[in-house]
Amino acid sequence: MQTAGPQKQYFDALAAGALKIQRCEACSRHVFYPRVQCPHCGADRLAWVQPTGLGTVYSTTVFRRKPADGGDQQIALIDLDEGVRMMSRVENVDPAAVRIGMRVKARVAQQDGAPVLVFDPVEG
Ligand SMILES: [Zn+2]
Repeated sequence: MQTAGPQKQYFDALAAGALKIQRCEACSRHVFYPRVQCPHCGADRLAWVQPTGLGTVYSTTVFRRKPADGGDQQIALIDLDEGVRMMSRVENVDPAAVRIGMRVKARVAQQDGAPVLVFDPVEG
């Protein structure tokens, strides 16, 4: 039986409002971006798990845009506590106020009718 590819499974979960990443059953490390084989040990037994969604901003960039073009856009690399790095953005905060080391939590948002993963600042 043909099963859906890992990327489709990831986006299906997002569409259902859940962030899911993979965890290798052989070496117990978490895996992102979704794939069929563990990048750490090469095993092909990757199980889907729901991470805490908590993470830390690793780097942040602000692209300056005119308000008419949507205003400044912020892009961040975020390290989930599970040890995987994701490219996303931090919302509900001034783009220029996003700091490296800031604690954030994942949230599934809608953009142009498609689910996207964004992050919100977490106090403390
Ligand atoms: Zn592995």
